[in-house]
Amino acid sequence: MYRMGKEELEELRRVIESKLLSRIGDDAPGHLREVSSFEEEWSAKTGVKYSICMSGGGTAALICGLAGMGIGPGDEVLVPAYTWMASATSVLAVGAIPVFVEVDETLAIDPEDVGAKISPQTQAIIPVHMCGRPANMERLTEIARKHSIQILEDACQADGGSYQGRRLGAWGHAGAFSFNYYKIIACGEGGALVTNNREIFERAFIYHDSGTVFRPGAGLFNTPIFVAQQYRASEIMGAVLRIQLQRLDGILADLRRIKKAFEVALNGVSGLKVAPNNDLDGDCGVVAAFQFQDEKSARGFAKASGVEGWLPIDSGKHVYSNWDPVLGKNFGHCDAVNPFLHPKNARLRQNYAPDMCPRTLDVLRRTVFININPDWSESEIDKRIAACNKAAKTVRTAAHV
Ligand SMILES: *Cc1c(COP(=O)(O)O)cnc(C)c1O
Repeated sequence: MYRMGKEELEELRRVIESKLLSRIGDDAPGHLREVSSFEEEWSAKTGVKYSICMSGGGTAALICGLAGMGIGPGDEVLVPAYTWMASATSVLAVGAIPVFVEVDETLAIDPEDVGAKISPQTQAIIPVHMCGRPANMERLTEIARKHSIQILEDACQADGGSYQGRRLGAWGHAGAFSFNYYKIIACGEGGALVTNNREIFERAFIYHDSGTVFRPGAGLFNTPIFVAQQYRASEIMGAVLRIQLQRLDGILADLRRIKKAFEVALNGVSGLKVAPNNDLDGDCGVVAAFQFQDEKSARGFAKASGVEGWLPIDSGKHVYSNWDPVLGKNFGHCDAVNPFLHPKNARLRQNYAPDMCPRTLDVLRRTVFININPDWSESEIDKRIAACNKAAKTVRTAAHV
C-alpha cells in the first residue's frame, strides 16, 4: 500500500450510511454495488472478460483459479522456488502437488527449467511476477501451448503491471492478484481472480461462494453448483478498492520513473550491473535490482550507508528452502485431506529438499533490491542514487583487494 486518504474515507462513509455492507442483494434501491463495480473496473483495467473480487487475499484467488482450471489430485503444478509460499500451498489446497522450478537472473521462473521439469502429470504452471517484475510470458505461453498445459499467473505483487503491452494476469488462462496491506494497491486484505474463460470463471466463482445457488442469477451458470468455500468480498473492501484503482496508474508512473532513474544512473558505475528484466516498461518499479559476482559484494553494497538495500535470500518466507510445512509435507488438519498422502499423488514428484534449487539460492544471494517509494522528492532520489554510486565504488575496491 503506497497511498490512501480522504477519498477512501468518503467512499467508506457512503457505504456505511447505505447500511448495505454485503454485495448480496445489490439490486436493492440504495445499494452502492461497490464490489460488482470494482470487478467491472478491474476487468476493464486488466483487459479481461471476468474478474472475481474476494476476501481471503491472493491466496484465495490462486486457489479459486486452480479450482476453476480443474486442477486436483493426480496433477503436478510447476511453481518457482522464489515466491510467497501461497503460490505452492494453493496447489496443495486443491489436492495437487507443487513441483519447484528455478528462477533465473530476472528473479522470475526460468523457462528453461520449466521445459526440463514438465512431466506427463504436469497440468499447470504458476509464473510469479515477484516484486512487480514480469515473468517471460512469451516463452512460457509457447511452452504451455506445446505441452497443452494451463497457466495461472500469480500477479499478487504486480497489480497493474504488464508484459509486452498486455497486462499481467491477462496472459495466462487465469491470473491472481492480492490487495493485502503490502501490495501496490490494498484494502487491508483481499484479492481478485481474472480470466477470459467462461468455464474457469464459473467454477472459480462457485468455489469462492457456493451460496450462489440460493441467489438470483444462479440459473445463468452452466456449471452445476458444488459445495466449496466462502471468500465473498464485502462492500467495504469494494469501496476502498475502487478508489485505490483510481490511484493505481499514478502510483505505477511514479514507481517506474524513480526506479528507472536509479537504474539508468547506476548501471555500469564501477561495474554495477542492473538485474536483467523481462520487460522494463511493464515492470511495476517496486524495486531497483542489482546483481553481483558473489554474496560478499552484494552484502557490502546493500549495507553501505544510505543504500537501504536488501538481499532476497534474506526475505525468509519467500525462499522455498524455508517453507517448513511444505517441505515437511504437513498439510491440513487430518491425514485424509493431505494431498501428499492421496493415492492419486503417490506417483508424483514429492522429493523436496532444501538444496533442490541451487541456482535460485545463488541468484537470491547475489541480488540486491532497493525498495522504491513513489513519494520520494527529487532531492531524496538524488541523495539515494549518490549513496549507491559511492557504495558501488567501495564494493569494487573491496573486490580488488
Ligand atoms: C501476497 C502474495 C500472495 C497472496 O497473498 P495474500 O496474503 O493471500 O493476499 C501470493 N503470492 C505472492 C507472490 C504474494 O506476494
